[in-house]
Amino acid sequence: MNERKRELAERAAEVREALAVAAGQAGRAAEDVTLVAVSKLHPASDIRDLAETGQTEFGENYVQEALDKQNELAGLNVNWHFIGGLQSNKAKYVAGKFALVHSVDSSKLAQALHKKAVSLDVVQDILIQVNIAGETQKSGITVESLPELAEAVLGMEGLRLVGLMTMPPFFDEPERARPVFARLRELRDGLEPRLGVSLPHLSMGMTGDFVPAVQEGATLVRIGTRIFGARPPRG
Ligand SMILES: *Cc1c(COP(=O)(O)O)cnc(C)c1O
Repeated sequence: MNERKRELAERAAEVREALAVAAGQAGRAAEDVTLVAVSKLHPASDIRDLAETGQTEFGENYVQEALDKQNELAGLNVNWHFIGGLQSNKAKYVAGKFALVHSVDSSKLAQALHKKAVSLDVVQDILIQVNIAGETQKSGITVESLPELAEAVLGMEGLRLVGLMTMPPFFDEPERARPVFARLRELRDGLEPRLGVSLPHLSMGMTGDFVPAVQEGATLVRIGTRIFGARPPRG
């Protein structure tokens, strides 16, 4: 095993252990929390190395970078997650290429993904991203507009809504993000009976705040830095 591969395997194992501890603290099973390794801006070789140690879920933010990596790693048995901000004019490159799109935050984007999925004869799994703290610079739909978007998505046969995603504001103290995570769970719990569908997934928690996220019910945690180290600048 090369040095980098050993390092990545070790860090991912430490993260999985911490996720299991946090799940246990909330009376949840470790298997109910899936680690999405966020590999944006890190080389495809890191993904290959980590995949070869058993990691299957990888998250990417930028369309072109993600597609380039998918091409380079064709044949590698992994599931790709699109977690970044997505403009509707790029939706056609994303639909059908990712196991899950975490960042649907407008009916325009949903419509574009739906249209492409239908043309490919696939059903694209998606999450709706909610901007709970109402930060103006952050992506995500407002809490007020969430039910309307969810209902619209249910009418799009090219999409399957499987849950919600959020990204809290940056806090030095991870505990401060806890109310945001709890709120996402409550929103999900309220939507399910209203829409008459099951929304099993809550995508929440990153390197700095995954403990409270898992304790509040995260099923997908998106962790980059803790596994891969600091990201090189985008360029
Ligand atoms: C980059 C990114 C992450 C991972 O962040 P880390 O702090 O490196 O763990 C998670 N989610 C989204 C949406 C991201 O853009």
